[in-house]
Amino acid sequence: MTQIEVPEAAAMWQSALVALRDHLPEQSFATWLRPLVPERFENNALILTAPSQFHREWIESHYVANLETILADLRGEQVRLKLQVSVSPPVAVARPAPPPPLPAAVSENQEDSHLNPRYLFENFIEGDSNSFARAACLAVADMERRCPWNPLLIYGGTGLGKTHLLQAIGNRALSRHRGKYRVLYASSERFTQDFIHSLQTRHTTDFSHRYRSIDLLLVDDVQFFAAKERTQIEFFHAFNTLYQKGKRIVLTADRPVSELADFDKRLVSRFDSGLVTNIEPPDYETRVAILLHRAEADKFPMTRDVADFLAATITSNIRELEGAYVTLTARCQLMRVPPSADLVREILKTRSGQNGHRPPAEHILTIVAEFFSISPDLLRGKSRKKEIVLPRMIAMMLMTECTSLSLKQIGSLFGGRDHSTVIHARDTIRERHAANDAEIVSILRDLRNKINPLTPASG
Ligand code: ADP
Ligand code: MG
Repeated sequence: MTQIEVPEAAAMWQSALVALRDHLPEQSFATWLRPLVPERFENNALILTAPSQFHREWIESHYVANLETILADLRGEQVRLKLQVSVSPPVAVARPAPPPPLPAAVSENQEDSHLNPRYLFENFIEGDSNSFARAACLAVADMERRCPWNPLLIYGGTGLGKTHLLQAIGNRALSRHRGKYRVLYASSERFTQDFIHSLQTRHTTDFSHRYRSIDLLLVDDVQFFAAKERTQIEFFHAFNTLYQKGKRIVLTADRPVSELADFDKRLVSRFDSGLVTNIEPPDYETRVAILLHRAEADKFPMTRDVADFLAATITSNIRELEGAYVTLTARCQLMRVPPSADLVREILKTRSGQNGHRPPAEHILTIVAEFFSISPDLLRGKSRKKEIVLPRMIAMMLMTECTSLSLKQIGSLFGGRDHSTVIHARDTIRERHAANDAEIVSILRDLRNKINPLTPASG
């Protein structure tokens, strides 16, 4: 039996990723392939750990064949790929005894940290509007360059890249410090919910311990702490404990510290005590660069003209720009036409024609389909395959939440399904979310981020 050390399995996997990278849309690559962790190579099989059972099945049905071909090319002999799930004990593969040293990052992964692996410095486009904030974030992520400021606070309007940068810090720090280094990303809402939950279940010590035992705390959108007095106090204590231990804290807010109303003065002065930097709305050149970068990663044939036109029309924020871009790619695929300024004009008309802030159902369908790399037709169709059923339920649930359509109307969008099917889908997803099912929590967070806000933002 040949057994190869972990570093070598990791190197093999790395080469396979490099080879595959150019053949996949960036999103699929980041969502599905990046989270896999190479374990070991034995008996001509490379063993990888997937973050969930669903993830594992998805890889098995979509990528294994391709990956095995690439690995075989790399090694010059047939290679099999075996997947296991990180939480449950391995099914297909018996661990050899004694087990080879495993990278400690297996359980200390992005999921535990609530990080989304898609937010990286590598896909963050730098421009005048964000270059200082980006540099500050990079310095925090690379602890070698001992940066003196703590905390770092980034503020700026909606959809300008605050969450992207915050998560990029976490992802980078995690990948550099594989091992005992602990990162935690939380929105201030999540922090609040956790705190309330700990009060209800009388597990406040668990709560304090959890938030005070990490090396890098990333708290998004602190403005939501406003007027939540007890949560503010709790956060203040967590902050102080970490600060005194020399642990890093990075925060974001949608407004300058001076405009945070209903805040404890002591907390505000803590926010202000490190480095405060802001992100401005992107200038025209940055908007064009973001579009072209994204199109290139997606292999979407967008001409410079079309990118110029989109960037000139959507000026408010990047999320909005991405929304229009995603709709454009979907239209082009469905109608089998190349992107054009006329098509962009048409899309912008329908997007801003929506009443209020309600996104069209079609848009949700497109976003969900793109997220899972399946066609909207499959989502609407009859397939009972597990990898289609879950995305379909999620799309239904999001439509009940984000559109003004009735249950019946939503059912009819999905190939004439009954309204009770929609209710079942909605409740199933909600229950899993309420039970803190990590996979659902993370998927919904991403999708909601993509869906809202859809109309040109005011901020
Ligand atoms: P915020 O948290 O400030 O509301 P996000 O970080 O969620 O904004 O950004 C909105 C979207 O725009 C995300 O999909 C993000 O990846 C993208 N984005 C923002 N800034 C950039 C950038 N400079 N380069 C590439 N993508 C960006
Ligand atoms: Mg955000």
